[in-house]
Amino acid sequence: MRQERQTSFLKTVEAAERFITGFEDDPDQEGIPALLKNLREIISAETKSKSVPEKSADIYKPTCSECGSDDILNDAYAEWDNDGQSWILQQVFDKGAICQDCGGETSLDWVPPTHPRLRSS
Ligand SMILES: [Zn+2]
Repeated sequence: MRQERQTSFLKTVEAAERFITGFEDDPDQEGIPALLKNLREIISAETKSKSVPEKSADIYKPTCSECGSDDILNDAYAEWDNDGQSWILQQVFDKGAICQDCGGETSLDWVPPTHPRLRSS
């Protein structure tokens, strides 16, 4: 409901901006440039806030606390799914992570995914 109200709000402001633009060069109308400036600031702020992807800062990846590699295997249980005919990850354990670069057991550091290898895959 809130989303619908915001959309119609933006549409109304845009319609007002288009309407008032028609009077922009009319010397009989006062305060048009200031009014248009305000309306256009509202429109650009509304449009900008919608184009920014949400939660991008909340994405993290596990990395090796020893060497920083994200080539990590984790100890887990998988359960066979008859309907989907595949293994479904049931439980991932907090301990038992293995770094494929170090070749041994390690603990994990959760970091934002800035590594190019993760972005391309
Ligand atoms: Zn490592």
